[in-house]
Amino acid sequence: MRIFAVMKCSTCPRGCSANRIDSMGFCGASNIPEVATICIHKGEEPPICGKKGITNVFFAYCNLQCIYCQNHEISGLKDSHSGTIVRFRGVDQIVEGISQVLPQTENIVGFVTPSHYAGHIPAIVEGLHARGLFPTIVYNTGGYDTVASLQALAPYVDIYLPDIKYSDAEIASRYSCAPDYPAISLKALREMYNQKGSSLPTDENDLAFRGIIIRHLVLPGQVQNSLKVLESIADISTNLHVALMAQYFPPRPNLPDELNRTLTAEEYQQVTNHFYALGLHRGWVQELSATECYRPDFSQKESFEKNAHPTE
Ligand code: SF4
Repeated sequence: MRIFAVMKCSTCPRGCSANRIDSMGFCGASNIPEVATICIHKGEEPPICGKKGITNVFFAYCNLQCIYCQNHEISGLKDSHSGTIVRFRGVDQIVEGISQVLPQTENIVGFVTPSHYAGHIPAIVEGLHARGLFPTIVYNTGGYDTVASLQALAPYVDIYLPDIKYSDAEIASRYSCAPDYPAISLKALREMYNQKGSSLPTDENDLAFRGIIIRHLVLPGQVQNSLKVLESIADISTNLHVALMAQYFPPRPNLPDELNRTLTAEEYQQVTNHFYALGLHRGWVQELSATECYRPDFSQKESFEKNAHPTE
C-alpha cells in the first residue's frame, strides 16, 4: 500500500501549502484520511443508488468551507474544526468500514467531499480490491478540484458527481472564500467530460457504471448565478446529466439575510425553465419538499431519503 506524505499541500486548488503533519491547511485535514460516517444512503440519484442504496463515505473536513454547508457537523467549518465528527481514521479503518456496509447496498461506493483526500483515494480503492471487492466508485465532489488530481484519479473513479455551485466570482468569494471557483470548477468539469463523455450507461439493474452527474443546488436569492451555471454546463454539452437541487435550508445561525430562508417555487421554476430552454434534457428535478427529505443528521447512522423526478 502506498504511503501518502505531504510536504507542502497542493492537493486542491487552494494550494495553501500546509504540511498537514504539524499544521492544518484551509480544509482542516491532516495527512491521515478521516471519515465521519460510512452509511447506506438511499437519497442519491436513482442510477447510483438503485433499490438498496449506495455505500457513502462521508469524509471529514472540506476544502470549500461554504458558509451555508448542509453537512457542517462533518465539514469542519473553520470555527469548529475541533468538534468535527470522525469515526474512521486511516486507510485501513476506512476500507474495513466500507467492507462492513457494502454487502447491504448496491455494489457502489460514493466518496463524499473527497477533494482534500484525493491522494488517498487510490490506496482505499486498492484496499477494497485486495479484499476482492470491486464496487463502482463515485467521486462526489464540491467541484473544487485540480485537473492534476482528476487525471491521477482517472483509473480509480467510474462516475464523477461534481457540484457546480457558482458562476459568479463575488458570490463564490462571499460564500466559499473561493473567487476562482467558477473558472476552476469548469476546468475540472471539462477534464471529467474528457475522461467520461456525456453518456451514463447502465447495467441490467439500471445502475450506472460510468459517466458524470452534475449537481447544482439553487440558492435563495441567487437565481442569476444558477442560470449562468446552467449556461456554462450547456456550453460543454447539452447531453450532460444534471440534478437540479431545491433542498437548500438555512443550516445555522448568523448567515447573510438572503440565505436565511428556503427557496421559493418561483425561483426554482425560473431555473428549471432555463434548464429546458438551453436544451439540457437529462437529469433530475426535485420537489420543494426536498428541503425536509434531504436534511442530514450525522448523529444517526443512516439518515437520507429523497424524491426526485427524471427530466426525460
Ligand atoms: S487540500 Fe487542504 S491543505 Fe491541501 S491545498 Fe487544499 S485546502 Fe490546503
